[in-house]
Order: sequence, then C-alpha cells, then structure tokens
Amino acid sequence: MALVVQKYGGTSVGSVERIRNVAKRVAESYDAGNDLVVVVSAMSGETNKLVALANGICEFPDSREYDVLVSSGEQVTVALLAMCLKSMGYKAKSYLGHQIPILTDSSFSKARIKKISDKKLRQDLKDRTIIIAAGFQGVDGDGNITTLGRGGSDTSGVALAAALKADVCEIYTDVDGVYTTDPNICDTARKIERISYDEMLELASLGAKVLQIRSVQFAKKFNVVVHVRSSFNDNPGTLVTKEDKEMESILVSGITYAKDETKIAVMRVPDKPGIAVKILSPLSAANISVDMIVQNVSEDGFTDFTFTVTKADFKKALLITREAAREIDARDVLTDENISKVSIVGLGMRSHAGVATKMFETLAKEGINIQMISTSEIKVSVVIDAKYTELAVRVLHDVFELSGKDVSVER
Ligand code: ADP
Ligand code: ASP
Ligand code: MG
Repeated sequence: MALVVQKYGGTSVGSVERIRNVAKRVAESYDAGNDLVVVVSAMSGETNKLVALANGICEFPDSREYDVLVSSGEQVTVALLAMCLKSMGYKAKSYLGHQIPILTDSSFSKARIKKISDKKLRQDLKDRTIIIAAGFQGVDGDGNITTLGRGGSDTSGVALAAALKADVCEIYTDVDGVYTTDPNICDTARKIERISYDEMLELASLGAKVLQIRSVQFAKKFNVVVHVRSSFNDNPGTLVTKEDKEMESILVSGITYAKDETKIAVMRVPDKPGIAVKILSPLSAANISVDMIVQNVSEDGFTDFTFTVTKADFKKALLITREAAREIDARDVLTDENISKVSIVGLGMRSHAGVATKMFETLAKEGINIQMISTSEIKVSVVIDAKYTELAVRVLHDVFELSGKDVSVER
C-alpha cells in the first residue's frame, strides 16, 4: 500500500468518456490498496479558450481577474471526476486550490507555491477518501486566486506529492513518457527509460512541455520520484530520478524546440556602462523574464542589444523597451516574432568537446542561419527562423543518433 499522487493532463480529461476512463484508472489503483490524491487539468483546449476570452475583452487584461478566469477550467474537471467516482460507489471529494489551501505568492499568472497545508487532506486520506485536487491554481496571502503558469498542473501534482511525502507522483499525459524529442514532430523519437532531474530541468526549460519546469524543480528539491506515463495504455513510462553513472555516458539525450519566444533588438545604443541595467530593470520590475541576451561588439561607441521574451509578455515588453530606448538615446527598436529556439541537452556534454561545433555544422549544412547562441554545462541553444524548426530538430536528432521506433501518442 502506498500514497500515490496521480496527475491527469488536458487530453486525458478531454471528454466525458475520457474522464470515465480516468475514474477507472483511479479506482483500480485505489482497489489495489493505495491512498490516492488525483490532480487534474482543465479539459484540453479549455484554458486556451479562456485566455482568448481575456484577450478579446481588452488589450491588457487585469492580472488578478485574469487568474480568476483562467483557473475556472479546472473547477469543471475536479467536479466531474469526483461525481463520476462517487457514482461508482467510491468516497471522493473535490478541492479547489484555495480550499486545500495551496498558498502562493501574488505573481498572478506565474505564481510560485509557498506552502501547502496537508491537514484536511490527511484527514480525508485517513478516511480512505480519494482526493481530487484542481491543478494550476492556488491562493495568495490575501485570498486572491492565483495560477501557476501554463502547464502548471504538473507543478500542483509534484508539490502535493512533496507536501504529503507521497511514494510516487505519476504524471499521466497523451504520450507514454519523455522522448528524445517531441514525438509529435519527429516520428523516430525514442522513449527515455530514466532521466536525471538536471537533464529534465533543461529539457523542460527549453521547450519539452511534457513537464512544466517548476514541477521538475520541486521534484529535485524534495526528491520526488516522477513517473511520466500515458493515460491511454499501460506501457511503462519514464522515471525522472537522481543522476547515476550510466546517465553520464550519454552525450546528447534530447532535442527540444520552443516557438513561444520573440526577439526584441535595441539598435545603435551608446555603448556606456549601465546600458543593460537601463534596458532590463524596467522589464524585471514588470515581472517579465528575459531569456537569451546578446550584446554586439561595439562600433564607433555604439552597440546593439538583443534579447528574447515569451510571446505572452511581448506586447508589454515592447512598450517598456521603447520607453527605455528613448531614455538611452537608442536609434530604434526592432522585433521578430517568427523565431524559435532549438536546443540539445545531455549530461555527457560536460566531458566531451565538439558537441556545439557538430550542432552548428549540421545546421549550416541545411542552410539554417543561427541568430543567437547560448550554452550551459549540459546544453546548447540556438535561435533560428521559426520556419526551420521541425527541420532543425529532425536533422539534429539524426546526427546525434537518437532515433528509435517505439512512439506512442494519443490525440
Ligand atoms: P498534458 O495536457 O497531459 O499536460 P502536454 O501537452 O502539456 O500534456 O504535454 C505533453 C506533450 O508534450 C506531448 O503531446 C508532446 O507533444 C509534448 N512534448 C514535447 N517534447 C516532448 C518530449 N521530449 N517527450 C514527450 N513529449 C514531449
Ligand atoms: N490548464 C492549464 C493549462 O492549460 C494547466 C495545465 O494544463 O497544466 O496551462
Ligand atoms: Mg502539460
């Protein structure tokens, strides 16, 4: 008998029939003697619809009200799943974030979990009640509803598993594990049996949306074993765990892409100390994260300063950057919304030289121009024209010999 946290993503609860399928899986695990906390996302497509409604009503929706709106999709699925289990004769109870409560900071739409109270949940578990918790949402110290960023139900699942010291956190999704690259764009992607927290952190932060990055940070910090599986079959999935020797022998373990970034370039800035701060600090004050940054070598005392932000932050970031550019006498602000970031990730890069060169050579051979580069100990990322994304992923997947043949994807 174990305490199991199961998280089901949008596709897994995408229809009444699929919610019934989830209820069956939950009941099976319960009947085997496990205590269960089940975290669910909104039905697939629902959160996107809510985001579109917010953007349709005004240009810059109020951030507090935005979270009240976009968190509502999960209220539907917790209720439906709890109803279904009760109709099958099981004890089950739905919980919204504020009812648990899952306490977060007040950064609306990207809130961080600060504390989870386990009191009510423990009482229910003692009573053998199945807990159905809404993913993606929490509550701040003033009682405002908050959300944890897109894909945030993964983080709800892992954080609940950490708070309750669960034996495992099972993440059920529409693929049966973490693959060497997105199996939806590369049909030779291969399932990874076990992956270290650090590699998974890089994959998640660089675009492999199968797990939200914060969920992996939680898992690493609290040593939660995460098992990524499909809710549509019983295949063994991928275990995300501590690093071991064997993992280091793999040079590149995955390729990722992210199409949700945009580029902003401040042109012909006087090259003086303090320029970066003047451009970047108003952005961070507005809670906008900047990803890649490149400052060109200066020519006649002028330089160009280029950075990327997510599409969601683009409009706001552009307004702020234009203002900063005026203040520092920059000539112009240019933008490009059609970029993507393609990255290679692997623990083996720590001890092998030449991996980046091989990546650049491969892209050059295909005529793909590299606009920006960034590296860490275990990854290399490049920004390229978005239209070459799939091609870049496939050629890199091939050249680093990652191909296999056991893809299983449900749509
Ligand atoms: P859920 O709604 O269940 O949370 P997501 O759509 O958030 O599911 O995440 C699953 C998707 O992640 C897959 O359908 C796949 O397209 C995508 N994905 C991207 N990179 C990877 C990868 N390396 N391995 C597995 N899936 C990936
Ligand atoms: N429903 C939320 C989203 O679409 C959270 C999640 O699915 O994890 O981003
Ligand atoms: Mg997800």
